[in-house]
Amino acid sequence: MSKFLHPVDVAEAVATALRIAPDPVPEEIPADGATGRVLSTDVIAREDIPGFDRSVVDGFAFRAEDTTGASESNPALLQCVGRVSMGSPETGLVVTKGTCVYIPTGGVLPEGADAVVMVEHTERAGDTVLVKRPVAYGENVLFHDEDYRCGAVILPAGRRLSPQDTGVLAACGRTSVIVAKRPVIGIISTGNELVPVTATPGPGQVRDANASMLAAYLREYGCDPRLYGIVRDERGSFEAALSKALPECDVILISGGSSKGDRDMTAGVIAGNGEVLVHGITLAPGKPTIIGRIGTTPVFGLPGHPASAYVVLIVIVLPLISHMLGEKKPFLRTTRAVLGDSLPSQKGREEYIRVRLEEGTAYPVFGKSGLLNTLVNSDGLVRIPAGIEGLEKGSDVDVILW
Ligand code: AMP
Ligand code: MG
Repeated sequence: MSKFLHPVDVAEAVATALRIAPDPVPEEIPADGATGRVLSTDVIAREDIPGFDRSVVDGFAFRAEDTTGASESNPALLQCVGRVSMGSPETGLVVTKGTCVYIPTGGVLPEGADAVVMVEHTERAGDTVLVKRPVAYGENVLFHDEDYRCGAVILPAGRRLSPQDTGVLAACGRTSVIVAKRPVIGIISTGNELVPVTATPGPGQVRDANASMLAAYLREYGCDPRLYGIVRDERGSFEAALSKALPECDVILISGGSSKGDRDMTAGVIAGNGEVLVHGITLAPGKPTIIGRIGTTPVFGLPGHPASAYVVLIVIVLPLISHMLGEKKPFLRTTRAVLGDSLPSQKGREEYIRVRLEEGTAYPVFGKSGLLNTLVNSDGLVRIPAGIEGLEKGSDVDVILW
């Protein structure tokens, strides 16, 4: 009989986490430091971009209709009447019927012209340019509002800004953006056997791996992780760490002690100071997980095994954090792969199997959840839904990349 009398499924656990998730708090920050942050408001174009009609090749600009019916044997003959120089419109340079002007890449399309042909596709005879095929209206031209029209949404709220987004913001003259504040996530490591990374473990002791791992993931995800050290499996130590962390953090993760043994303090301490909403999830690894709340602060109890803690972070905690960032769903990179081996699974629980990717094939990396090497030797996770008894070798799967 399970120690967990009322384990909930992953969907219900995530729904519970989302129910207690704080809303995003917007802040304005410089655009050039905004990569990786999530927009709180749409970025709207305040002007047309590029703002003027311009050529995308080195060539000749003219009226497209002057090349209608042009061919090798019957080229259009256009009189070259001048050149466009870069960076400013050419005043007084007008293209009329039967004429053209030389234009460099990025040059302002002169008045009257509506198409450009590449130099390579022309021949010259003195001031006459021969065009041997019809050129369509707008060919090789970027019109003044073709990239972004004034008033259009350039980047929508909820978007995690990429380096290329930052370039677009610069092109559009944005020096600041409104993004969600980085959620402050407190991390408390628990266990009488834990020692800090700087210590040499004595018999029966292990170094605290989870705090560093959780903090690293969260920092990269756009959070501000704060470590509250290692606490012993005693109510008083838990409460001392919690009372320090609670006023400083938006969310608290307590690693270890989340099961139902005598030494497992997390559920009792959360219940004593707030409420436990979920204790036990039909998730593997990650069954002994707690979702609770103290005041308005969400508090998670994560299993101590590093691999389990990592899976729970990704599957259960990230949806809440993404909500706090204003994202519709967690930002996870995935890739399609073919399963290199069959994966048996117990029906009734959602399983996450660590896999190694090799040229499009995902090979399971089996190992006990206490093994650290499985985290390093794998590239990500394959999800096996609760309702099935496993996945066959050769099936197409999505791999959630680390
Ligand atoms: P627990 O969830 O507290 O029962 O711990 C399960 C296992 O994970 C035990 O072997 C612990 O020693 C180990 N463990 C707990 N916390 C950590 C941690 N922060 N870093 C590394 N291992 C841990
Ligand atoms: Mg423990």
